[in-house]
Amino acid sequence: MTTTIVFLHAHPDDEAIFTGGTMALLAAAGCRVVLVTATKGEEGTPRFPLPAGESIADRREAETHAAAELLAVDAVRFLGFRDSGVAGSDAQDHPLAFGACDVEDAADRLAAICREEGADVLVHYDPGGIYAHADHLQVHRIGALAAARAGIATTYEATVDHEYLHFVDVHLVEGANRSLESRKSIGLPTAMISTTVDCRAVLETKWRAMAAHASQIPDADPMVPPEQFADVYGWEWFVRHGPPGPIDALPS
Ligand SMILES: [Zn+2]
Repeated sequence: MTTTIVFLHAHPDDEAIFTGGTMALLAAAGCRVVLVTATKGEEGTPRFPLPAGESIADRREAETHAAAELLAVDAVRFLGFRDSGVAGSDAQDHPLAFGACDVEDAADRLAAICREEGADVLVHYDPGGIYAHADHLQVHRIGALAAARAGIATTYEATVDHEYLHFVDVHLVEGANRSLESRKSIGLPTAMISTTVDCRAVLETKWRAMAAHASQIPDADPMVPPEQFADVYGWEWFVRHGPPGPIDALPS
C-alpha cells in the first residue's frame, strides 16, 4: 500500500528550502507526497514588477505549483490563511493572519485534509518554528494538534542543524527578514535531531524547485555560490515522533 506523507509549510518556498530534497526522494521511493501551504506568502516583496492584475498571492501560488511539480509532489493544498509578515507589521492584525489564527480551527482544517488525502505521516516544524517567524511557530502548533486529531502516529518536525554552520551562516531565511537574532535562534542542536537526510542525489531538483520561486529567490540563492550549494542545501533535518517512517528509510 502506498504511504502518503503530508507536509505542512508556512509560506511558498519553505517547502523547497527546508524539505525539497526529502520530498523528491520520498516521491522517487514510491511515496505519495502532499504539500499543504498555510499562506500564499502575501507579504513577500516581488523581485520584479508583476503584470497588471496579478497579485503577489497569484504569483506565489503559481510558483508553488511549479516547484511542487519539479519535486514530484502529488497534490498541493492551501490552508487558506494569510502571511503574517514580519514582527510589528500591519499584516499581523489581518483577520486571516496565520500567526494569530485560531489554532483549534486551523488544526481541524488540516486534520480534514489529512483524512481526505489518507495521510499516514505528517511533517511540520520544530517547536521554534525552525526560526521564530509567527507563521512558522504556528505550523508547529497546528501540525502537532492536527496529527493527534487525525490519528497520525508518525510525525516529523522539520528543522535545521544549528551546529551545521554552512547552513546557519549563509542560507536564505526569507531574505530581508534575516537578522543576527534569527540566525542565533535557528533550528535545533545536533543532539536533538533524530533523522538527517542526504539530499545530494537530488540536489539539482532542489535547486530548480527553489528557483521556481523566482519572485522571491534569484537563481535559487545568490548568497550561495554554486560550488557551495551542496554544502549549504545538501542535507535536511527532522525530529521524529512515533514509530519510524519513510523519512528514516532515506539516505542519511
Ligand atoms: Zn516561511
